[in-house]
Amino acid sequence: KGIVHRICAGQVILDLSSAVKELVENSLDAGATSIEIALKDFGEQWFQVIDNGCGISPHNFKLLALKHHTSKLAEFHDLQSLTTFGFRGEALSSLCALGSLTVETRTVSEPVATHLTFDNSGVLVAERKTARQIGTTVTVKKLFSNLPVRSKEFSRNIRREYGKLVSLLNAYALIAKSVRFVCTNTTSKNVRSVVLKTQGSGSLKDNIITVFGMNTFSCLETVMLCISDSCKVEGFLSKSGQGNGRNLGDRQYFFVNGRPVDMPKVSKIVNELYKGANSKQYPIAILNFIVPTRAYDVNVTPDKRKIFFSEETAILQALREGLQQIYSASDV
Ligand code: ADP
Ligand code: MG
Repeated sequence: KGIVHRICAGQVILDLSSAVKELVENSLDAGATSIEIALKDFGEQWFQVIDNGCGISPHNFKLLALKHHTSKLAEFHDLQSLTTFGFRGEALSSLCALGSLTVETRTVSEPVATHLTFDNSGVLVAERKTARQIGTTVTVKKLFSNLPVRSKEFSRNIRREYGKLVSLLNAYALIAKSVRFVCTNTTSKNVRSVVLKTQGSGSLKDNIITVFGMNTFSCLETVMLCISDSCKVEGFLSKSGQGNGRNLGDRQYFFVNGRPVDMPKVSKIVNELYKGANSKQYPIAILNFIVPTRAYDVNVTPDKRKIFFSEETAILQALREGLQQIYSASDV
């Protein structure tokens, strides 16, 4: 049973960034307006997500990290109209299986917070009162330490894992317009640096300026396309000849209703239509697809990064035409 659980856990939590992503999504689901991500040694020693969301009610403490416990899916037909990030109740249980998990939480109805410790199978093993504002802090120590091979690999690749995480956090920080995001890393020599910081001022433009700088922002143009009766695309895209001369896919962020997703086909269209100053330039793209929840399915892969549009061909064709118009207008 234990082994099966660990194998399954490996499917939701593949690496550092998927682990932290699950915690950040839980904070967003909890309605947080401030989310702080703290890493020790780039996440190798521990990582922590601190939010000011609704907190967790005491009646959920025991079940919290058990597999398939979720407070978000009242009935199965909810999957159709899902607006929360989580719904499978797998993240906390997987994290227990892969590292050591503690939670500190307080709701508006509790006078004090509670500190909870879970064991590897997700069983609550210790509980004590502590001081905390309303909200939740989840700490994971020594991710993958239960899996010797994976653990070695994790340490060896920690810088790459960290880079991937920062890029992913950028995506959430950009799109969660009204949420203040801070990410810090503390090195083994106790030097703490701020990796990412947004104010949560409510505007995507402000977030782009804080994350990438004013110079980058001034090279972008606004995208606002109605690509069908029910589908809009909003965001920013490099002006012709004003992309970044970096790697393909660098600073390209795609979202569906504010959910960061991988969209290789959209990326391909954007790269094709964009006219760089030279062949080494790629466009920056920050595009949010606003579509009715019934028009797509996120439940395709465990990490929910892939989505499936029911009208994919039509959407992509309309996007292509819309972007062509934007670029031909800016040529004049
Ligand atoms: P899911 O997000 O799919 O419901 P998780 O394993 O990620 O499953 O979380 C289990 C449950 O723990 C959630 O349904 C929620 O009730 C609670 N929870 C986890 N993190 C938080 C948080 N930061 N704030 C409030 N509740 C949380
Ligand atoms: Mg979750």
